[in-house]
Amino acid sequence: MTFLKYTIQLETLKAQGLYRSHRIIDDKTVLNFCSNDYLGLAKNETVISTFKNAADSYGVGSGSAHLICGHSLAHHALEEELAEFTGRERALLFSTGYMANVGTINALVQRGDFVFEDKLNHASLLDGGLSSGANFKRYPHADLERLEKLLSIASGQKLIVTDGVFSMDGDVAPLRKLAILAKQNAALLMVDDAHGFGVLGKTGGGLVEELNLTQEDVPILMGTLGKAFGTFGAFIAGSETLIETLIQSARTYIYTTALPPAIAEATRASLKIVIAETWRREKLQVLISQFKTGAVQLNLPLMPSDSPIQPLLIGDSFRATELSQQLLEAGFLVSAIRPPTVPKNKARLRITLSVLHEFEDVTRLLEALDRLLKCG
Ligand SMILES: *Cc1c(COP(=O)(O)O)cnc(C)c1O
Repeated sequence: MTFLKYTIQLETLKAQGLYRSHRIIDDKTVLNFCSNDYLGLAKNETVISTFKNAADSYGVGSGSAHLICGHSLAHHALEEELAEFTGRERALLFSTGYMANVGTINALVQRGDFVFEDKLNHASLLDGGLSSGANFKRYPHADLERLEKLLSIASGQKLIVTDGVFSMDGDVAPLRKLAILAKQNAALLMVDDAHGFGVLGKTGGGLVEELNLTQEDVPILMGTLGKAFGTFGAFIAGSETLIETLIQSARTYIYTTALPPAIAEATRASLKIVIAETWRREKLQVLISQFKTGAVQLNLPLMPSDSPIQPLLIGDSFRATELSQQLLEAGFLVSAIRPPTVPKNKARLRITLSVLHEFEDVTRLLEALDRLLKCG
């Protein structure tokens, strides 16, 4: 028995500039431009103290899966509040967004059915589609004509799955048209709005709130809690029948330990802030405009995005990694995103903005980007 095969694979990744490694982050000394904590709630005092108090009363671990004895009053209350927040009949907590996506798709389609996914969907959605055993069709990014053709030759249960805000590009799915297309073709529509919740919509209800899309338009809605909510975990929101179906058959729900109840309590506190403190979304929008305007003036390779995800297209993987390293030396944490997370030759610097940034921080980042992208 030998690991030689894996050693060679690892060396090949290094030679291609695609090797991944951890960085230990100390954001006291660098400016963090790669976190998904868009609203700054991961370090919010109220969220933290709620978490501590809940740990005092509930303990740390939930002790078991939801359907055994891991479902506490905190989980129950959070689910009810998320249902109300999203304007859906019910919501169901999952331990992570990855698990919510894989479990939901697998519960809804099987062999003989069809699942349609945008090429740029998050890996968890693609993995869900692949592992479901249904016919798995990927359509080019936001290409509704192609999707319509694919739908017309499908049979069985049809499920269309898309990111709301695309995680590596920052642009949004054509949701209104997707909802119409789904209805015309008797297909279900599932939207993963991991990056829209908290950030888009008047009360932070995400892309569906911004576009006024109801449960009938988007019957399967997924959100994560580890991004703008600043905590951890995820949820699916939709009809009573959808949620009951998931409880009976989503394996990633049934066969895993429930989130710590203190996380659920902390999320309840963060949800209140998401809804009430509209200034967070407003400030974020100001920073986004500032960054985009500055980047256009400096002729930086901006991608079409109005969200806090503002990638700069670099192309070459080695160059993207080098730039990320140089930015770190200059005091800025910006991640290089390379294949297979993004398509070949589409490596990029993925800059994310947060309400924790100030005007001067963005100005300094723009100056550093200008300087570093012009040399080399
Ligand atoms: C982060 C993310 C997920 C996964 O959520 P986790 O809670 O981190 O597992 C799923 N979908 C999208 C679009 C994401 O950005």
